[in-house]
This record gives sequence, C-alpha cells and structure tokens, in this order.
Amino acid sequence: MTPLRAKIPELPPRLEGLAALAVNLAWSWHRQSRALFRRIDEVLWSATSHNPIVLLQRVDPARLDRLARDADFLAHYDEVMEWLAVEQSSTAGWFRDAHPDVGTSHPVAYFCAEFGLHASVPIYSGGLGVLAGDHCKTASDLAVPLIGIGLFYKKGYFDQRVRPDGWQEDTNDEVKPDRTPLIPVVDADDLQVSIQLPMGDRIIHVRAWTMAVGRVTLYLLDTDHEANDAEDRELTSKLYAGGIPMRLRQEWVLGVGGVRLLRKLGLAPGAWHANEGHASFMMLERVRELVLGGGTLDDAITTVRQRTLFTTHTPVPAGHDVFDLSDVATCAGTAFLTDLGADGPRAFGLGVHPNRDPQQFHMTVLAMRLAGHVNGVAQRHGVVSRELWGDLWGARPTDEVPIGAITNGVHLATWMASPIMRLLDIHVGHDWGNRRDEAEMWDAVLGVDALKLWTEHERLKEVLVRAIREEARRRWTTTWREAAQVVAAGTLLDPGTFTIGFARRFATYKRADLLFRDLDRLRTLLTNVKRPVQLVIAGKAHPQDTPGKEVLQSLYHFTRDPIFEGRVAFLEDYDMHLAHLLVQGVDLWLNVPRVPLEASGTSGMKAGLNGVPQLSTIDGWWEEGYTGRNGWAIPKAPADVDPATADALDADHLYQLLEQEVVPMWYDRDEHGVPRQWVRVMKEAIRTAGQQFTSRRMVQDYVTRYYAPMLRGDLLPDDPPIG
Ligand SMILES: *Cc1c(COP(=O)(O)O)cnc(C)c1O
Repeated sequence: MTPLRAKIPELPPRLEGLAALAVNLAWSWHRQSRALFRRIDEVLWSATSHNPIVLLQRVDPARLDRLARDADFLAHYDEVMEWLAVEQSSTAGWFRDAHPDVGTSHPVAYFCAEFGLHASVPIYSGGLGVLAGDHCKTASDLAVPLIGIGLFYKKGYFDQRVRPDGWQEDTNDEVKPDRTPLIPVVDADDLQVSIQLPMGDRIIHVRAWTMAVGRVTLYLLDTDHEANDAEDRELTSKLYAGGIPMRLRQEWVLGVGGVRLLRKLGLAPGAWHANEGHASFMMLERVRELVLGGGTLDDAITTVRQRTLFTTHTPVPAGHDVFDLSDVATCAGTAFLTDLGADGPRAFGLGVHPNRDPQQFHMTVLAMRLAGHVNGVAQRHGVVSRELWGDLWGARPTDEVPIGAITNGVHLATWMASPIMRLLDIHVGHDWGNRRDEAEMWDAVLGVDALKLWTEHERLKEVLVRAIREEARRRWTTTWREAAQVVAAGTLLDPGTFTIGFARRFATYKRADLLFRDLDRLRTLLTNVKRPVQLVIAGKAHPQDTPGKEVLQSLYHFTRDPIFEGRVAFLEDYDMHLAHLLVQGVDLWLNVPRVPLEASGTSGMKAGLNGVPQLSTIDGWWEEGYTGRNGWAIPKAPADVDPATADALDADHLYQLLEQEVVPMWYDRDEHGVPRQWVRVMKEAIRTAGQQFTSRRMVQDYVTRYYAPMLRGDLLPDDPPIG
C-alpha cells in the first residue's frame, strides 16, 4: 500500500487528484485550492480547522460521487489540478530568471528546529517556526532550490489550557501522522528509511519523513523507532520540552542526524543555512566528515565556513542555548571524537566563548565560528548583534564586526485575507500578483475605494468575533466548569467597538502587562460610553517560564473583573489558525517589547498586509517600517534611564496615543460611517507591508546576498572570530 493510500481513502476516479492536492501544503496558500476544499463540505471544512486530509477521510462518499458529476465543481477542480501539475514540476521562476548561471542540482539545505506551515501540522511554537515556514513557502514560489531539515515532534509544542484562576496548564495531544501531510521516506523495498546515529554510548535509530511544501521538500526526523528503548523513542516527541539534557540531544539529532540523512539520500547541498543556533551541530558534523576524509581541522573549518550561513534570531540571552562542554562531549560519544582524531578537543572548543566560562558550550559561538556568513533579522538587530557578539572578534570596532542583517518578512499568500486580495484584484488589477516586486504597484493601494476597504475590514472583524463565540461555546460545552470563563473568552465582545489585538509569547520582555499599569486609566479608556475600546489577548508562556505564566495569570484576572465590563478577552491556544483570525480581524495591532530586545517581530507585518495598523515601540522591524503615516510609534525612552522608568514612560506614551489620537480617529466617521482618516492609515499599512516586509523580498535578499554566490562557490567568507 502506498503511503498516500494509507492516508486518504478511495476517491471517485474523476477526483483522484484531490489526494495529491491534500498532501502538498501548497493548497494552503492557493486561494482556488482552499475554495475547492471548502466547496466539498463547508461545515466539515470548518470543523476540521481547514485540514483537507481529515476532510477527505470524513466526507460522505455519496457527496464525492455527486461532485464527480457536477460540471461546475469539475471545472474548478480541473483548474486547480492544472495549477498543481505546474506547481510540482516546473523549475521556472524568479530564481532561474535572476540567476540563470546557477544550477539547481545542489540545493540550499535549510535547517531549523521548528517549522510553522499550517495549524494542522503543529511542529512549531511561535515566531521562529512561522518564519521558517514562510521561508520555505516563498522558496517554492520563487523556485529556489531549497530543502528544509527539521524534527517531527509527535506531541507538537503544547496545548494551552488556562485554569479558572488564570494559571496556564500545558497539555499535549498526540499528532496522528495520518492526519498530516507527513509521508515516510521509503527505500526501494517500500520500507521507511532510517539512519543509525551514535549518541553517547549507544546507537539511536532515527526515522525520516517528508512533507511537500509546494516545490520544496521538508525532511523531518524522529526517534520513535521500535528499535529504540522507551526513553529514546520519546526524545523528539515534544518541542522545547524536557529541559536542557533533552534539548541537547534533540539538537544533536537535528544537526548531526540531518546531515547523515541527506548523505544517505544522496543529496548534496551546495549551501547550508542554520536558522538559529539550535541547528549548529550540522556544521560540526561536516567538519567531522572532512577530518575523517583526511583533512586537517583548520582546512575543514575553512571549507565548511565557505558554504555556511548562520542566522541569529534574538538578543535575549535565554534564546541562546548553552550546554556543559562535558555533556556535549558525552552526547557526541567516543566514535565522533575518534573521527576527529587528535583535534577532537579543539573542535569541541569551538563552542567555548573566550570571555566566559570555559566549561560551557555555546551553540551560537559554535555557529559564529563555523559559518562564514552571519546575519541578524532586522537592521536594528544587526547593530545589536554586532554589539552583543563583537568581542568574539577581539578589539575590532563594533561597526566592523562581520554580522549582517536581512530583515524578516511574511508570506503574503498565507497571511493576507482573501477579501483583501480580491480588493486588489479589482482596484489594482488582476495581475497584481505578478507585479508584487514593483513599488508602484503597492502605491496604487492608496487609490482603493475607502468604503469598500472598510466594508471588507468590518466583515473580517465579524468573522473573528463569530469564531471567538464559537470557540467559547465549544469549550463551555466540553471542558469549562465556570461561566466566568465564557466571559473571559470574549463572548461579550462587540463587533462595532474599537478592538486592539495583542498576541505573542508571554516572555516578560514583550511586556504584555504594559497596558495594565494604570488600571483606572485603562478602565476609563475601555468603558467610555461613546468610544468604548476592547482588548483581545492571546499567547502562550513557555512551560518553564514561571514569570511569563505569572504575567498571563495577572492579565487573565482582568478578563473577568466586572470593572472592565467584559471588554478584555483572553483566547487560549494561540496558533497559526488563531493568528490568521486576529491579524485579519482586529482594528489595531499592539506591540510593546522592551527596546532593544525584539529582534524583528513579524505579527505586525501580517496585520499590516490586512490593513491593520500597528502601534509599537520603536524596535525590531518597526524601526524600518514606521513612516509616520502607517501606524503609531511609542517614542524611545532616553538611553540612560533604568528599565522600570522606561516601562513607566512607555506606558504613559501608550495611554496618551490611544486616548488622544488612535481611538478618536477610529470613531471619527463620515456620512457613510467610514473613518476616512483611519482608512488612510490602513492603506499605508498595506503599502508598507507589501513593499518591504514580505518573505518574497526577504528570500530574494537571502538568495542575492548569500545563496546564489555560495552555490556558485564564489562568496568569500567573512573573517572568523579570533582564537
Ligand atoms: C507570526 C506568529 C508569531 C510571531 O509573532 P511576533 O510578532 O514575532 O511575536 C508567533 N506565533 C504565531 C502563531 C504566529 O503566527
């Protein structure tokens, strides 16, 4: 039985192509494909949270038989099938046009610990994963020869339940591979491919899966192999769980296992990209290969550096993995060390920071030594990273530290709502998709009819409010014990009220509690009779982040406090599905990280694409993105004040902006009920996001600056750190 047949039941022959469509995630960013699945069974489509595989498993076969005779449906189906055939086979596209001299037989290998592609494949926790997912989707759009390497976590990240007292509980449901587009990699005998990875004193069997992301293939590894002992089988079962020892071993599987799988499959990357330090062992494994092949350690390092790019994603110390050097050596085991010969200890010393504890191994330091090219994820983050890591290059002036920057972006077709795309079809022209790289195309957004844009926005907001009610109804019926939870979940929200969205991880530097510093002032703002305001909050705290959970708990308390009249809501289980609803359906996106700790941030870009302007501290991408016309900025606190004072100043600015500019502008309506001035800001938000902050621009930057020259073999590596 082929893997596909195991997943998808027998279909009418005329509709057989639905199986292939359902297991290539390209359907998720193709409007016509989404519409096709919705058309099969609208109720089921919604009930499965847009999972086409489960839809095909559950749909009434009689319904499919009818559709197989429905001329209208078949025309739609044939059109989608035609698109899919091209999507899967053609290598034509931007990459070939821009770099005709670069072959496609040696791909870019893109390693990341998480990939956020769709809510139905929960192998991501947040921003890093969603960015990696958007990167792969865009590589497919641009026909960049790229493969992804990651881990398959059968229990995903975690599902969030908030107790009535506001404490976050972490539960986890197992992901059934047969409900995901995950397909085992099989050999000539139809058996799943696995590799044997020495780890410490034993061999771990690692299984291989693939997932099709348009033209890009993702390879995912897991250790749930029957030949492993029980503990090892659980090694890759959860993302970012199990503490430091587990984390180290997961990263070993990703980096070392990932390279070994590519070798086994005969894939020969011409460029290697570690997206964040979790993947750094990929570089050490390639050093080992070269030394084992007879090279010296220094030559091996030089060779690896030439074709390796490392992207660092955060200036927050907790975001950088640090292990005990002895634990890393133990995990590697004697075989790995033996391969490195006399240079083994020196090779492991590559992870030691010269000015910190010599017994500690830093994944970021390893990557900075073994990658000849390093970048941060926004211009500002480049500056911050040069300051943060500059001492690795000795006394070099900070602005000469070889760390570059490519600003993040988001995948337009994933994040822009279909109704907004339709508006562009009508007002900018049906070929706008082909003209996305032209700045003038985005200028034309300013000419979109204000009433129509406003009407579409109001509809998207209704979709959000309805989804919130339905989710509350579902949880009230199945899990909740107290009616107050139903209020906390936003059932009293009103679609006619100005709505602020705030959704992100509950890390303390993101300051989710900033708006709650002055409760009287907040209450006055929210409960104004003429111009009420409501607040929708979502986000998870990392399971080990107790301070983050405490912030969540204190916020949750306000959702049920009658003084706020049910105008503060907390939505559980922030994931890509909820993110879609929020960035498309609220009026204002709020972002208040403590400067300069936000490397980039991406949710504000998603909101921008939907005409939802952002109010943010000037940090991450907003330092580049804010124009004075497309949203609001909290002015920077003076550099010499302490964090508590900066918090107080920022909070005061935030209240002032909301009270004096933002809320009055939203409620200032013309004779058709349209807030004219506000809609202008909406259009500016779309223009900025479309022109500068899509992943299309981002991946083009990666290709132009790094991938293409690396694949050509003519990119000189930057100077390595000293020592
Ligand atoms: C986009 C996204 C994020 C990242 O948002 P930030 O602005 O970087 O905090 C996190 N989680 C989900 C589900 C997302 O879609």
